[in-house]
Amino acid sequence: MRIAELYRSVQGEGRLTGVDSVFVRTSGCNLRCWFCDTPYASWTPEGDDLSVDEITERIVALEATHVVLTGGEPMLFAELMPLCERLRGVGRHITIETAGTLYQSLACDLMSISPKFASSAPPSAEHPRWHARHERSRHQPEVMRRLLGDYDCQLKFVIDQPSDLAELSHYLADFPQLRREQVLLMPQGVTLADLESRRGWLEAYCAAEGFQFCPRKQIEWFGLQRGT
Ligand code: SF4
Repeated sequence: MRIAELYRSVQGEGRLTGVDSVFVRTSGCNLRCWFCDTPYASWTPEGDDLSVDEITERIVALEATHVVLTGGEPMLFAELMPLCERLRGVGRHITIETAGTLYQSLACDLMSISPKFASSAPPSAEHPRWHARHERSRHQPEVMRRLLGDYDCQLKFVIDQPSDLAELSHYLADFPQLRREQVLLMPQGVTLADLESRRGWLEAYCAAEGFQFCPRKQIEWFGLQRGT
């Protein structure tokens, strides 16, 4: 499978924030969010094709017990299943970060799903083909139901503007099995100024509605840098 980067760092988002982890970033995505902060794994995918053996060896050499399989969209790859089996075999805790549009049956300890709203679509004038494909693919309720039924899940929503909150309510109404504490709302942004500009109203909304506010700690700690 094509790997854009593989490194050890600290998880900056969600339930496992602060946990030392190895990150494996697969390259390639079926969506094209305009705000994608890893364009080298979506818009212009980079990286080498590595075997499951090679990836496992590199992960084991980095000696962290937690592994985060992220992207791009890692669920695009059939090799994800044997890779997860190997990692389970060597005692690793496995998080998969996905947009929740594709299903696979895997060894996975935490399914971290980041569903995408209408506001994530790339501009239709500039990217008509990707705009249409993104809109067709981004919401797959049947896939989400299977993921929620089969895995321990957290849902991390990237919130760009207050109008996203109405879409959030509609979205959540389709999944009554979700508990509020599984839902994390994260401000859109790749600079501290971007994040701060959305923090006030989003944090207040989370407090009022019982959702978790999810800071992007890796931006605070490292800025937007590859390998962090
Ligand atoms: S789903 Fe994730 S990796 Fe894919 S384009 Fe959107 S933000 Fe980027």
